[in-house]
Amino acid sequence: MRTQVAIIGAGPSGLLLGQLLHKAGIDAVILERQTGDYVLGRIRAGVLEQVTIDLLDEAGVGQRMHQEGLVHGGFDMLFKGERHRIDMNKLTGGKNVMVYGQTEVTRDLMQARTAAGLTTIYEAANVAVHDFDSAKPRVTYEKDGQQHEITCDFIAGCDGFHGVCRASAPRNAIKEFEKVYPFGWLGVLSDTPPVHEELIYVNSPRGFALCSQRSETRSRYYLQVTLTDKVEQWSDQAFWDELKLRLDPEARAKLVTGPSIEKSIAPLRSFVTEPLRFGRMFLAGDAGHIVPPTGAKGLNLAATDVKYLSNAIIEFYQDKSEAGIDSYSERCLKRIWRAERFSWWFTSLMHNFPENGAIGQKLQEAELDYIIHSEAGARSVAENYVGLPLDFGQ
Ligand SMILES: Cc1cc2nc3c(=O)[nH]c(=O)nc-3n(C[C@H](O)[C@H](O)[C@H](O)COP(=O)(O)OP(=O)(O)OC[C@H]3O[C@@H](n4cnc5c(N)ncnc54)[C@H](O)[C@@H]3O)c2cc1C
Repeated sequence: MRTQVAIIGAGPSGLLLGQLLHKAGIDAVILERQTGDYVLGRIRAGVLEQVTIDLLDEAGVGQRMHQEGLVHGGFDMLFKGERHRIDMNKLTGGKNVMVYGQTEVTRDLMQARTAAGLTTIYEAANVAVHDFDSAKPRVTYEKDGQQHEITCDFIAGCDGFHGVCRASAPRNAIKEFEKVYPFGWLGVLSDTPPVHEELIYVNSPRGFALCSQRSETRSRYYLQVTLTDKVEQWSDQAFWDELKLRLDPEARAKLVTGPSIEKSIAPLRSFVTEPLRFGRMFLAGDAGHIVPPTGAKGLNLAATDVKYLSNAIIEFYQDKSEAGIDSYSERCLKRIWRAERFSWWFTSLMHNFPENGAIGQKLQEAELDYIIHSEAGARSVAENYVGLPLDFGQ
């Protein structure tokens, strides 16, 4: 088989890239090792920045998001038993975020791909990338016991943190930066109304908690837990009891509990790969970087990588220019490091770090106190949370 762009991975990065390229008349095939239902069943991100909303509109898949997504102009920070609202809308001159689940984004993109008759090969086993240092890259895979080969102009590595593309880059050409945090997030999804109309980020003596949501009837809650905790140790009742202990009295009274429809523990890490281009292979999304989810940046960064990459590939075919593909890595990394900084900082601000001792605790409290009493401090949080503009610092 021959295509212009072979995309590895049908997560949000791969599907969005496929859709943006299709809109520009560029042919792409997506190879995914899981089934479509498996991909749709993964409960992950839920907060979209304006740049991501704009991109989904540009890709022609924004209709349901605008109907069902919830626009949020602020969020609460709870510490020392009191809630303080960060009025993002006011502090950023009118910017908001949209609460709309990653599963829904994925579903919209998959449906658009099916409707346009585009090729996605699910359950592709042993995907391998070849010759990406030449002008004729190849991808091989197995499907139903048969070996297949795709020749292409470019390979887009949209295959997440555990994918094959980054692992295939020459070791002497790649640099990796990593920080693993000493805790994880225990998440519960439930068909219960959210405890509050906006998100609540909690710094409590018992650890971090987040009251998030996916819709007016579906809630997502998280608790900071130790890395040794196992999900089986946490009954639904134990989860709700612990969450209540971390909330303020009003939220505790309002919290509606119910059976979990998903429960999992995710480790937290900061990770960046440099560069993101290896000849004719590019990394985008989680294949190139991971942020701790505190700043809600993972999915949004994936979307902006794809924006830069699709622009670069379109420029290559339409204008016969390699300027975009030459600058792809550098442009993305500037935005990635800014989001990495914010996600690391917000994680450090909101979680318990007993290993930092009493002085660490006092310094964290002083920083929280500064943010809620200083408009400049609150504005810095708001500006980063809604997402920096695409042309920031250029
Ligand atoms: C448990 C968890 C919770 C998260 N929670 C949040 C959150 O609350 N907020 C937030 O902003 N972000 C969150 N994230 C991050 C966010 O979900 C990711 O940033 C986003 O999914 C990135 O999309 P992606 O397409 O780059 O990668 P992925 O979604 O990982 O997609 C990669 C795809 O590639 C496929 N693949 C992998 N290897 C191969 C191979 N060899 N061959 C073929 N296909 C392959 C995978 O099956 C997968 O479908 C979370 C991530 C995880 C893991």
